[in-house]
Amino acid sequence: MHLSNHPSIQLSIHPTILSAANPATNFQILIIEESLKYFDKKNEDLIEDTIHPTCHNESRLVGGSRTCLASYLLCIAFNYFLFLVFFFLIFLFFGTNFKPVPILTRSCSNGKLNFKNLNSNVLIFLTIFINNFFGKYLMNEILTVLKAVELSAEYLKKKGIDEARPNAELLLANILNCKRLDLYLQFDRPLNEKEKQIYREHLSRRANGEPLQYITGEVEFYGLTLKVNPSVLIPRPETELLVEKIIKENKERETLKILDVGTGSGNIAIALKANLPNAEIFSIDISEKAIETAKANAELNGLAEDVTFETADIFDESVVAELHGFDIIVSNPPYVSKEEMEDVQKEIKDYEPREAVTDSANGLKFFNRISSVAKMILNENGKIYFEVGKGESEKVSAILNEEGFKNIETQKDFSGIPRIVEGEL
Ligand code: GLN
Repeated sequence: MHLSNHPSIQLSIHPTILSAANPATNFQILIIEESLKYFDKKNEDLIEDTIHPTCHNESRLVGGSRTCLASYLLCIAFNYFLFLVFFFLIFLFFGTNFKPVPILTRSCSNGKLNFKNLNSNVLIFLTIFINNFFGKYLMNEILTVLKAVELSAEYLKKKGIDEARPNAELLLANILNCKRLDLYLQFDRPLNEKEKQIYREHLSRRANGEPLQYITGEVEFYGLTLKVNPSVLIPRPETELLVEKIIKENKERETLKILDVGTGSGNIAIALKANLPNAEIFSIDISEKAIETAKANAELNGLAEDVTFETADIFDESVVAELHGFDIIVSNPPYVSKEEMEDVQKEIKDYEPREAVTDSANGLKFFNRISSVAKMILNENGKIYFEVGKGESEKVSAILNEEGFKNIETQKDFSGIPRIVEGEL
């Protein structure tokens, strides 16, 4: 990789700083680059993970990687060598006592440490550290919001992440506690050491395929901010359509009892309650951790008292026996089939909870079950609203039809895929 193309190096090079404040930095960079090339050959992955945009020499050392440490030490060694040359020249021209010799040399005459040499060595090391200190201080100044976003977007793109720039922006906005667009109101603001360190960690995680929302820990859903973590599915924009449809079709009703099956982060239930204040909402999920998250989200949105969340399995007969008198059942169940699961994106496969994504069967297990117990759960004229997977709408409509539902309708999502199936008893 060429010096000027190296993302970490780009940050370190700032012409004025290089020439005015830190004359040795040019050489340091060369040395780092050479050592990186060496390590590149040894272990490309390590390098890839180590080097990314917010790194420069010092912060890479803070990053703690062996590679960084090695290149940093090489750098110091080279610095030392430079100063030896420098002092040797002074000695040549001025003939002073500043005789630069390696630290371990002892006086020839009596075998004791030569203090004059020791002094000049101490001076050399002092100068190196001062040099590094100022280098670090000055280099820190130049990582602005804009530069950080640009370099990080490049890095994520190189790592094969789709929508690299929005990802880089959202990660930084999360760290700076602002909206994505607000980044541009402070594009020349320098990042401090702590912010850079967190950004670096988050970029690494994103580059490895971890979903953005698990890194930032939150997601926007139907105008609400919700917390997410790896124990819940990340709410999707398609699911907002499901919520919107239910709100639109039921907003005039005075009383309404809704059951949300497989609530996950509680997104559907909370968004419904926020927009249908008259509704009584009961949500279940088989995962205890998901229910904890859903409760926390209800609280976060000031609805802790208004939505009921319980750990329960819809396949459990005793659970179904307890559920009755509902006007609506809504569910976005695990609908990816076992077969399709092999081909889903790495982000989903490796990070989202498997039991929330797939039924480990034909993808229709939950639709079958919920539709068949719906008659016991729903009131007369009760309705069911499902989010379904690609290519499942007709099969789900057929299931509802067989279970005696009428007025079965489907609605397409933003990409034209039939995504919502609705039926009435
Ligand atoms: N109800 C949640 C959502 O729609 C979780 C769904 C699930 O876990 N399958 O995102």
